[in-house]
Amino acid sequence: MNPLLRIAIQKSGRLQEESLKLLKESGLHFNNGKDQLKTQSENFPVEVLFLRDDDIPQYVEDKVADVGIVGENVFAEKQKQNELIRPLGFARCRLSIAVPRSEKYSGAQWLQGKNIATSYPNIVKGFLIKNKIEAGIHEISGSVEIAPGIGLADAICDIVSSGSTLQSNGLKEAEVVMNSEAVLIATPKLEKEKKEILDELIFRIQAVQVAKDNKYILMNCPNDAIERITQVIPGMKSPTILPLKKEGWSSLHSVVDENDFWKKINQLKSLGAEGILVVPIEKMIV
Ligand code: ATP
Ligand code: ZN
Repeated sequence: MNPLLRIAIQKSGRLQEESLKLLKESGLHFNNGKDQLKTQSENFPVEVLFLRDDDIPQYVEDKVADVGIVGENVFAEKQKQNELIRPLGFARCRLSIAVPRSEKYSGAQWLQGKNIATSYPNIVKGFLIKNKIEAGIHEISGSVEIAPGIGLADAICDIVSSGSTLQSNGLKEAEVVMNSEAVLIATPKLEKEKKEILDELIFRIQAVQVAKDNKYILMNCPNDAIERITQVIPGMKSPTILPLKKEGWSSLHSVVDENDFWKKINQLKSLGAEGILVVPIEKMIV
């Protein structure tokens, strides 16, 4: 029997939906829903296991799963035998130190001799060592933000998104300890057949990610502007030029990076481009 690559993703929570979406966008079909413990793809040699995200690094180390999708924060905290394969571009957040709003926080030295409540003791330990600070670490598993209010700690280290949870607990963000996004992790020595499946999956994920970072762009332009417009949007190899019925005009097709898209649009307009259309790309193989 051919082997299946077992991928562990979060059972429920912030990572679950996007993890499954990424696999689906990579062309994997799944018949049954996510309400089960595991599901097998109909058209790709992959089995998906639904687990608690905090347990995934351990399962990957133990080879119960071959690969997993977790937050970089969880990967960094657990310190298991996991190979970091690649960032996945979703579930972006940051892990920060927060202190009571009334405190004058003047820098990391403020933490000297203090007590920090967190669910991320290893990451905090690393931060303290790096900054040559001695402080106590009080590990708690949930509702970390209430710790200073009830006198359990002087500061906390937790995931911050909007800051409103901090606000309502009388805290302010003082220091970003790490930025995080979802990452793909794997057991270090995958057998050859599974490695091949993983490589194919990575290739597809890459195609999906590159596509998301780019847009297909079409416009009408006067023929004498084609050279200058090509310099602005050179595309993958070069733009496609098709003659319009209207004398002296062409339709120009290219690919543009999502990040400097608006800047380029203004340049294109000033070079005489008209009727600019921008279309999403589903997959892109560079
Ligand atoms: P539990 O394991 O008890 O379900 P959790 O905090 O680990 O709780 P989630 O809240 O689903 O579970 O978070 C999972 C991951 O999503 C976190 O480890 C982090 O990487 C990321 N994350 C957390 N908060 C945010 C946020 N506000 N925005 C984006 N990503 C986030
Ligand atoms: Zn979790």
